[in-house]
Amino acid sequence: MTSSFSQLGLHPELVRAVEERGYAAPMPIQAAMIPVMTSGQDVIGQAQTGSGKTAAFALPMLQNLDPSAASIQGLVLTPTRELALQVAGAIEDYGRFKHVRVLAVYGGAAYGPQIGELRRGVDIVVGTPGRIMDLMRKNVLDLSAVRTAVLDEADEMLSMGFIEDMETILSQTPTERQTALFSATMPQEIRQLADRYLRDPQSIRIQSKQMTVETTEQRYYLVRQKDKLAALARLFEMEQISSALIFARTRSGSSELANALNQRGFSAEVLNGDLSQDARERTLLRFRQNQVKVLVATDVAARGLDIDDISHVINYDLPDDVEVYVHRIGRTGRAGKSGIAISLLTPGEQRRLGQIESFTRQKLTRAALPTEEEIRLAREEKLLTQVKVWLERNRCQREREMVTQLVAEGHDALDIAAVALKMARGEEKQRPIAKVVEMDDRPQRPLRRSYDDAGLGEERAERSTTRPGKPRRFLRRSAGEREAGMTRLSLNRGKKHGMHPNDVVGAIAAHANIPGYVIGKIHIEERFTLVDVPDEFAARVLAKTGEVKIRKQAIEIATAR
Ligand code: AMP
Repeated sequence: MTSSFSQLGLHPELVRAVEERGYAAPMPIQAAMIPVMTSGQDVIGQAQTGSGKTAAFALPMLQNLDPSAASIQGLVLTPTRELALQVAGAIEDYGRFKHVRVLAVYGGAAYGPQIGELRRGVDIVVGTPGRIMDLMRKNVLDLSAVRTAVLDEADEMLSMGFIEDMETILSQTPTERQTALFSATMPQEIRQLADRYLRDPQSIRIQSKQMTVETTEQRYYLVRQKDKLAALARLFEMEQISSALIFARTRSGSSELANALNQRGFSAEVLNGDLSQDARERTLLRFRQNQVKVLVATDVAARGLDIDDISHVINYDLPDDVEVYVHRIGRTGRAGKSGIAISLLTPGEQRRLGQIESFTRQKLTRAALPTEEEIRLAREEKLLTQVKVWLERNRCQREREMVTQLVAEGHDALDIAAVALKMARGEEKQRPIAKVVEMDDRPQRPLRRSYDDAGLGEERAERSTTRPGKPRRFLRRSAGEREAGMTRLSLNRGKKHGMHPNDVVGAIAAHANIPGYVIGKIHIEERFTLVDVPDEFAARVLAKTGEVKIRKQAIEIATAR
């Protein structure tokens, strides 16, 4: 394999840019594609995010630029705004010693600045098909001098309904242009598009094996669908998670899962198509900066998400397509770091395991969930470690005085310490260790082990009444009886107004300044919503009646009868 970028025949300015970016050697797709593209040939690349495909097409595109021309010479189509921004940023960086002007254009942003930049002149445009079409219609985007055109994540653009736009856009570029098409999968429509618009393309397929980095440990747990949340909660107790990306199948599934995790004291945010572009970008930034450690996402929303430091990728729901599995787990174990990919499998999904293993040519290890006893011990160990850290710090002057006072009143120092620890463990009550039935290898047979139910009884009982195979809802369960110590409040908005459990938790927590995880059951009716909050916080929430806003609507809050 080629061991350096300079051996690929790239201009010195480009080699310097990638080396300064810290790339020691080309990745397989780069070694394979750069010489083909710099020779002017068309290519079809079957590769995914994480494979290094951006540099594989961007470097030849930059090499191919004519520095004296004052027109758009490079065009990249991407399915999403996030990917457009990411690709434009990378091209700008690779091209910085060539002083290349790169512009990202995408919907949901004002036209003015994008048009202004186009008028000032750019060399490369990266954008979503819809906005590119709009700008062409406005006669501000002239593609008649494009030398290299790239379709990035073409299958994704197809599934978003952009196939005709892709064709229209390509037809506005010179026929002698060079074209590169990237797609993780190759559906019929994409093959046809390639037949029509690419000339004698060379196919470059990066084997999945090279994408599922060897440093990724792949594990799976066999559980019933209705036990997945409890299983995940157990894993959260034991795994050393520095940042985790959890995949759910649907938008609503992802919101409900994030919400359910928050309720159990594991803070998580959601990344799905329900969020506005701005909200998505803010969430991504917080995740990137590690202010948010756990993100629950759908595949579409996570497209183009490019973060090197993800410790865990969790398949809460398995994807239908094995290639999507590879794509998902390619987000961990990057850049030589070790990563963990965890899948929660139901007995019915075991068949898919074989498909994944044969596709990735790697074995997934069956693992047993941590037992209740293991979790208890881990919690205690963590608490003791914290105590030891504080003992070292020796910064508890006021607390020492308080203890001295209690001792003077006749209490035993050991008893006082024990009580203090018990109080410190109060928050564990938020995280009861739920019962999980782990499945035997043979479908539908119980169980190697069963655990005591410690608190999710009502929820479990209700879940078991849902029809098998139907996605279960975590929160739209019956309001039932409220728990002791909780006050039930009613909000004057419901399903009819688009209320969602996530909104309720987020808005109440933010406005009344209480932790989201203390909020109890939420029951959304057609025209109103019931929500349980701990007694001690009820007055604080009630005081915010009329101030709490959900989807821009002011919410009236009252005590429910
Ligand atoms: P991509 O598949 O283009 O989204 O790239 C995935 C990640 O790999 C990005 O974070 C790139 O910055 C990084 N990357 C690309 N090429 C190399 C390379 N040759 N060496 C190290 N990292 C790279």
